Amino acid sequence: MSAKIRLYVEHPLGAGQSVPLDRDQAHYLFGVMRQAVGGQVSLFNGRDGEWRADIVEAGKRQGLLQCQDQTKPLMLPPDLWLVFAPIKKARTDFIVEKAAEMGAARILPVQTAFTNSDRIRRDRLQAHAVEAAEQCGGTYVPEVAELQKLSRVLDHWPQDRQLMFCDEAEVGAALALTTGGGTGAPWAIVIGPEGGFSESERKRLHALPQSHVVSLGPRILRADTAVVAALTLWQQCHGDWR
Ligand code: SAH
Repeated sequence: MSAKIRLYVEHPLGAGQSVPLDRDQAHYLFGVMRQAVGGQVSLFNGRDGEWRADIVEAGKRQGLLQCQDQTKPLMLPPDLWLVFAPIKKARTDFIVEKAAEMGAARILPVQTAFTNSDRIRRDRLQAHAVEAAEQCGGTYVPEVAELQKLSRVLDHWPQDRQLMFCDEAEVGAALALTTGGGTGAPWAIVIGPEGGFSESERKRLHALPQSHVVSLGPRILRADTAVVAALTLWQQCHGDWR
């Protein structure tokens, strides 16, 4: 059984492995969660699955854990990217958290013609992805990439990666998420900002051979809602929910 408290660490995990804690982790475990020597936590590092570990040293600013046994193997999400245009801070945080919970492998914030923000705090967003993985029982943390221009991302679009283009201009059309690329094929979901896509972006996205233009129903959704809806549809059709 996994222990109640789950902690993401960078350190390698394996039977008997000692894992030192940094200041923040020690503060969280011993200060906030009131754990002490003899207690148990679950650890994962995105590579070695989940391990049950004993607390062997507990200090204010440091601590030491020792791995006992593996409680879960590494479970990778499907090879799905979420490409989205950052919106207001709290809503962007929400998007990253939901993408990590719902099983995206990589999160790519992009600047589009109508993107409201030209800066993101990548480290903060990455911390949100870690927290989401800790609380949802995941053994993998999706990487949050640096903010890039959508046009640049499309310039280098991998030939074999299918693209689910959620186009608000399709509002009200029937859902058209078809099979493409075969089982296990790499995919990406593309969601625009509050202002939607510009005509030239729309043209470019429609013209990509990897593109599957999709409607998300009869109503225009806010970008954060659209992300959750698109991830649900994709997971149900192509992902690991089937
Ligand atoms: N301001 C725009 C809407 C943007 S909604 C307008 O009024 O037209 C933000 C993003 O969510 C869109 O760019 C799109 O990617 C996605 N989205 C929202 N509702 C959608 C729908 N019904 N169909 C497809 N995509 C949708």
